[in-house]
Amino acid sequence: EKAALEAFRGKPTVTADGEKKVLACNIGNPEDAKGAVDHDAEAIGLFRSEFLFMDATSLPTEDEQFEAYRKAAVTLKGAPVIIRTLDVGGDKEIPYMNLQKEDNPFMGYRAVRYCLDNPDEYKVQLRALLRASAFGDIKIMVPLVTCVEEIRSVKALVEECKEELRAEGYKFNENIEVGIMMETAAAANIPDLLAKESAFFSIGTNDLTGYTMASDRGNDKVAYLYSWYYPAVLRAIKNIIQAGVKEGIMVGMCGEAAADPLLTPLLISWGMEEFSVSAPSVLRTRKVISQWTKADADALEAKVMQLETAEEVKAALTEAAR
Ligand code: PEP
Ligand code: MG
Repeated sequence: EKAALEAFRGKPTVTADGEKKVLACNIGNPEDAKGAVDHDAEAIGLFRSEFLFMDATSLPTEDEQFEAYRKAAVTLKGAPVIIRTLDVGGDKEIPYMNLQKEDNPFMGYRAVRYCLDNPDEYKVQLRALLRASAFGDIKIMVPLVTCVEEIRSVKALVEECKEELRAEGYKFNENIEVGIMMETAAAANIPDLLAKESAFFSIGTNDLTGYTMASDRGNDKVAYLYSWYYPAVLRAIKNIIQAGVKEGIMVGMCGEAAADPLLTPLLISWGMEEFSVSAPSVLRTRKVISQWTKADADALEAKVMQLETAEEVKAALTEAAR
């Protein structure tokens, strides 16, 4: 098995009929970027920047953040590095930030909501990202977007930062891309509107599954509902990919589902371009992609999307994967 996977090292990621895909990696700190390259990732599809904040005892400074982002960009030698801006709150606590306890943290003050409410803090991160963009292909990704207003506000802050940096004589990528994590039920219902405002989409199936099914994975009593094999989640994913493809933007997935071999044919059928997985899953996912033609994937998709239960969906996908 391991030797069979090694055959995919250094190879392009292509479907059985030669359609090019991108195999990217999820990382949590700049040191992991090296591991991603060692595992043969072609890009970083998700750099979870909150780990920089969690490992500290106070907010990391602009220079500290710049160093971390620059390091990841340099390690990838010009390949794309998608860095997600601070995703605090929900399941991600940062003690020194002293956020109030909330009755319903997953529906509360977190991620882009916190950042837009604290623009001076947010601009520290955006400036660091812009400065690091002079050293590689850094892209900015915004978590937990639910409406057009949020992404417009972030882009306005990015423009403000650019103006400041220009005046201060810093180099940066003037055309830095700003994209969206598609991970809320709201975003899945307006992917066409969001695609017009966004350079790329990355589907966060960890949250999207929870928000779509109104199910907390950590709650044993309802964990059975936390599954992307439910038609509701599959339709959400399909809507997002197809809206992005229609608008001509890059669509990827950085949630755990990107590494689920059962889902691969559906994602190929819908036209998803980038699979971002943990380092150990890179070669295996590349192999699974190589086993499907578009025609076979489309035929399976047509069958599966008519099914009514998660159990039927999983059984059909399992059967097809044999
Ligand atoms: C996701 O929600 O799918 C995701 C990739 O982000 P996180 O797991 O960090 O919330
Ligand atoms: Mg998420």
